[in-house]
Amino acid sequence: MCQNNQAKKRFGQNFLADTDIIDQIIEIIDPKYLDNLVEIGPGKGALTERLLHFCPRLWTIEIDKDLVQFLKKRFVHEKDFFVAESDALKINFSRNFAPPPIRVVGNLPYNIATPLIFHLIQHRHVIKDMLFMLQLEVAQRIHAKPCSKAYGRLTVMVQYFCEVFPMLNVQPSAFHPTPKVSSCFVRLIPRKRINPIAEDELMLADLVTTCFQQRRKTLRNSLRRFCPKPDEFFPAIDLSLRPDQISVKDYVYMSNQLTHLNFNTH
Ligand code: SAM
Repeated sequence: MCQNNQAKKRFGQNFLADTDIIDQIIEIIDPKYLDNLVEIGPGKGALTERLLHFCPRLWTIEIDKDLVQFLKKRFVHEKDFFVAESDALKINFSRNFAPPPIRVVGNLPYNIATPLIFHLIQHRHVIKDMLFMLQLEVAQRIHAKPCSKAYGRLTVMVQYFCEVFPMLNVQPSAFHPTPKVSSCFVRLIPRKRINPIAEDELMLADLVTTCFQQRRKTLRNSLRRFCPKPDEFFPAIDLSLRPDQISVKDYVYMSNQLTHLNFNTH
């Protein structure tokens, strides 16, 4: 039976084993009867069982076919429990879980957490919130403030689209098998109104990537890729600063300046 099977490393299987932590996570999620919940990577059902208790209609997405079989048997009596055998990175969240808004939850496999957050950001218009167990280092990066070591491309791009709230730090001992790193349970809320808005999101992404590729160089230096005399185009920014010293809003300002000046880089 699945419980005796080895956890599959390639699927990032570190199952939640600490019932106190599971209780706290469920309290943070605060599932409601009518919530349209989607759980990513239900595994053996540690969170799933508790979520179903509050919210009987539950969608789950699990990539491991053995676990899919296990879950189907375990929750056979749950009429509104659905498990899709699929890669969450390939799911169209805008289409498959009507009616919106959906709430997306999960103890994420660490190897797909960042691409999955970006994938879900593409579907942010149907998402009320996302509650994820992440590697502590990733949580710190998406929640970082300027002038800190953790502040980088991931910070700017996630905070542009979402508010980020770290909710609970979790020690490796809460999982089986025990991971090498600590974790943090985080709530992400897609912003209803992004302010200021980037007129060209691809330009923003390109600008942020370029600046953080040369983290130790001044902004002036990095911006020369976009324009030969950067000081003329960004009067509101001190270009002697490094990329980790300016805010998300400053990046949006610079991106919009480039868009207005029609510096087409893509
Ligand atoms: N929720 C369970 C728990 O907390 O005990 C399992 C969490 S475990 C960290 C991650 C789960 O995600 C595993 O069940 C794994 O098989 C599944 N998984 C890995 N990659 C996936 C993907 N791309 N799409 C959907 N599920 C995936």
